[in-house]
Amino acid sequence: EIAQCLVGSEMCIRDSYTVYDKKENLHDETKVARGALGHDPVTGAISFPIFQATTYRHIGIIENTNYNYSRIINPTREEFERTMAMLDHGYRAFAVSSGMAATSLVLTMLKPKEHILVSDDVYGGTVRACDEVLKYNEVEYTQVDFTDLEEVKKNTKPNTKMMFIETPTNPMMKVADIAEICKYAHSKGITVVVDNTFLTSYFQKPLDLGADIVVYSATKYIAGHNDVLAGVVVVKTKEQADYLNLQMAIYGACLSPMDSWLALRGLKTLAVRMDRHNENAKKIAEFLRNHPKVKKVYYVGFEDHPQYDITLKQSKGFGGMISFDLGDIKTVNKFLEKINLILFAESLGGVESLVTHPATRTHTEVSKEAREKLGITDTLLRLSVGIENVDDLIDDIKQALE
Ligand code: PLP
Repeated sequence: EIAQCLVGSEMCIRDSYTVYDKKENLHDETKVARGALGHDPVTGAISFPIFQATTYRHIGIIENTNYNYSRIINPTREEFERTMAMLDHGYRAFAVSSGMAATSLVLTMLKPKEHILVSDDVYGGTVRACDEVLKYNEVEYTQVDFTDLEEVKKNTKPNTKMMFIETPTNPMMKVADIAEICKYAHSKGITVVVDNTFLTSYFQKPLDLGADIVVYSATKYIAGHNDVLAGVVVVKTKEQADYLNLQMAIYGACLSPMDSWLALRGLKTLAVRMDRHNENAKKIAEFLRNHPKVKKVYYVGFEDHPQYDITLKQSKGFGGMISFDLGDIKTVNKFLEKINLILFAESLGGVESLVTHPATRTHTEVSKEAREKLGITDTLLRLSVGIENVDDLIDDIKQALE
């Protein structure tokens, strides 16, 4: 009977468009809080169940429930994927075991002798994937400043097949004009991938701006509580989905049912969390800029940020990320020793405020020379502003600086 019920609601479960159509007119705040299906069609449970099963009983040779084995398909993961695809206006989403699994999965689209352009200032793990995996597979890569379209054009080769953009970049907060880059890339038949981890679809929808694929470290804002590692790839076409579906079956990087549920639960509060991260970060960036011990602040919400106009054009918010340079290593050491409420830890995007030291933590894969060129000095710190009371956070920064 349960199987029949699932088959009966197949239109709802399997045909993603039916789900999206039903929610098309709703706002993102409603979509995240309620999810794609939002409840279990069998029992009516409003917390989508954790289907902790690896395999599924078949009805017969011909009749089936569409579920067979959890590496290939799992109802909990599917609900998370459907919700992510719905939010990004994609054709399909794939939930994987980490943000790096999402990036690596997309990089498998490149064949030997092809070339990819990658943001010069990306997450260190992405650089490592390019160094270790792409080179080994004879795929050429060049890092480029995507804020400069002329540089992008100059570095595009006849065999360039993909552009991998992180915007805003990690940790220098550079902003690339997604629509302009896509226009150029598409005139050359190049696929554009955007790592949208910092802003999420709540603030920025790369597919609507022309991009072909979006990747996330869902470990960050999507799940939002520093308690689950996850990644997501959202694609625009059936062809891309078919390719990735096959790779998922081969590599088996799928997100577990429990982690899919945690990510889905975190996602419910994405809108309120992002609004609060945004609000807190604005005040903290301003405070840092006015503090005499802070040499420079990198924050996309400053009106004098070099790409402020682009941010206003393509994003609905500035996010919760700030980098700042203290200019003196002794002050950095003291600051990290004294900071108390804000935790000195890697990662970002959770409800807890975290501060990290990119040169020795997140960007060790980038050579010192390349780091210095980008501005990732030994005295740069990156702050992921959480959702705590902003005055408490400012007091903590103030005492640590003093
Ligand atoms: N993309 C960005 C922008 C990141 O900051 C990170 C991790 O910090 C990743 C991807 C990799 O994600 P994960 O740690 O979930 O593998």
